[in-house]
Amino acid sequence: MNPLADMSSRKLLFYVLWTAFHGGIFIYGFFKQRMDKDLALLNSLGYSVATSRGAGLVLAVDACLLLLPMCRNLIRFARGLTTINKILPFDQNIFFHKCSAYSLLFFTLVHVNAHYINFFFVEEKIFDKLPLRAWQIHYTTWAGVTGHVMLMLMFFMYTSAKTQVRQKKFELFWYTHHLFVPFYICLFLHYRGCFVKSTSTGKCKPYGSNVVTIPTFCLYILERVVREYRARQSTQLTKVVFHPGNTLELRIEKPSFAYKPGQYLFLNIPGVSHFQWHPFTISSTPEEGFVSVHIRIVGDWTKNAAKLLGCYNNLDSDSTKIKMPTIRIDGPYGAPAEDFYNYESAVLVSAGIGVTPAASLLKSLWYRYYRKAPIGLRKVYFIWLARDKESFAWFQSLLSTLEQSIPTSFLEIKVYLTGKLSLDEIQNLAINDADSAFDSLTELRNKTQFGRPDWPKIFQGVRQGVESSQQSGKMKSTVGVFYCGPAVLATQLRKSCEAASGASVEFDFRKEHF
Ligand SMILES: Cc1cc2nc3c(=O)[nH]c(=O)nc-3n(C[C@H](O)[C@H](O)[C@H](O)COP(=O)(O)OP(=O)(O)OC[C@H]3O[C@@H](n4cnc5c(N)ncnc54)[C@H](O)[C@@H]3O)c2cc1C
Repeated sequence: MNPLADMSSRKLLFYVLWTAFHGGIFIYGFFKQRMDKDLALLNSLGYSVATSRGAGLVLAVDACLLLLPMCRNLIRFARGLTTINKILPFDQNIFFHKCSAYSLLFFTLVHVNAHYINFFFVEEKIFDKLPLRAWQIHYTTWAGVTGHVMLMLMFFMYTSAKTQVRQKKFELFWYTHHLFVPFYICLFLHYRGCFVKSTSTGKCKPYGSNVVTIPTFCLYILERVVREYRARQSTQLTKVVFHPGNTLELRIEKPSFAYKPGQYLFLNIPGVSHFQWHPFTISSTPEEGFVSVHIRIVGDWTKNAAKLLGCYNNLDSDSTKIKMPTIRIDGPYGAPAEDFYNYESAVLVSAGIGVTPAASLLKSLWYRYYRKAPIGLRKVYFIWLARDKESFAWFQSLLSTLEQSIPTSFLEIKVYLTGKLSLDEIQNLAINDADSAFDSLTELRNKTQFGRPDWPKIFQGVRQGVESSQQSGKMKSTVGVFYCGPAVLATQLRKSCEAASGASVEFDFRKEHF
């Protein structure tokens, strides 16, 4: 299999630029050391010295790049700046963080190996010209000790960040990742004691990378302080609804919380865990006057939250009898769906609970339509895939309202049931659906489709629709495709978007996965 065949051209370009950027910094650091006549004694050890310094400089840059995409507030602010938003793919912040982490790992290996070679040559060539023996430099100096501590911390952070660990033991990953604090402190202290000294004056000659790494670290800490401060603003849980399909809806009031449709927030319930913050897409729209989230109960935290909120107490599902626990929310944060209104046409594709951003957008669309406010969009397609029929209940009334009040020439709704039905259910459907104008699963006029959608056919249809409504003389229309659901389907959709794009219509694929 050719790995390049699966790679989008934008990603390929990114990797080329990324490698060139890192290679450039390495070469600069390498030759700066190598050409410095003042460092002749060290350079007499060989190329390994310049290699360790070149790699060290790249590590400082990566240490900054690692933190920047994790500054959610900074990203939210930058998303608002239209020109920057068009150039930088903010949706890819975690991907960028991972790229920086892999690069940091690679150059750490280069740096460490080069240093071990350095120490071998220190013993062999210049031990009589240095006050310390190689093992002392290695294990007793600031650089040696902090370097080894950083290696150990990296081992724990990297191994616990593996997808398998993250998916099975998210807390282990999350807590271990906070070893980044001692890691950065070691990084700042790494230059102390000074290994690189001028041969003539004996003065220290570091690259001075702390000038950028310390402010970046402070920026990230500030980010965390802002999150903590905002999360502490008055927040009231006003309603809990337990929906079919093991899903919980929370309605929250927080006057200081201003959000846009499609954004997400972090939720903390101290009664479940003081430290865990879980991300959930906001399923309400600002016009509703509250913030709602739909939470699928999947693991420990969501189960314990459901228990605390009385969902297993045999009370009414819309319970008012339980004492509402304290909750905290942080955000909102930007997601791809935020750019929904920036396109001429949009296709919203949701799988399972990935319907939440679409729900928020569709509600906001309804409000705009109802108030005759400017929308910008000419046509919207909403496609929802669910494995079980119970899921359709989450937003049944919303979809019915939309179907009744917005014409299909503007909003087309398609619902797919991808899971199997029992024989009884099939018989029931056959009887109920026979003469009914409404679908018995969704109560929509547009009948539920069974099985997986034929994506190429769907996108060809969208393309033809856009082409037929294109204003004469218009060169190209861009259709925003917003997907939220599992990663496997994202790959299929991306390919279908690329295949359907042409000279007159381009599909811009944007994805979000939980
Ligand atoms: C941007 C975003 C928006 C989301 N929106 C929704 C939504 O609207 N509705 C919904 O039901 N789910 C949503 N999720 C998923 C939701 O965050 C997880 O299902 C929830 O955190 C599971 O926690 P758990 O301990 O019960 O389950 P676990 O069994 O511990 O975890 C289940 C899955 O969730 C991931 N996960 C666990 N804890 C976290 C965390 N603190 N941060 C990020 N991922 C975590 C794990 O990697 C694992 O794959 C969203 C996730 C993201 C990243």
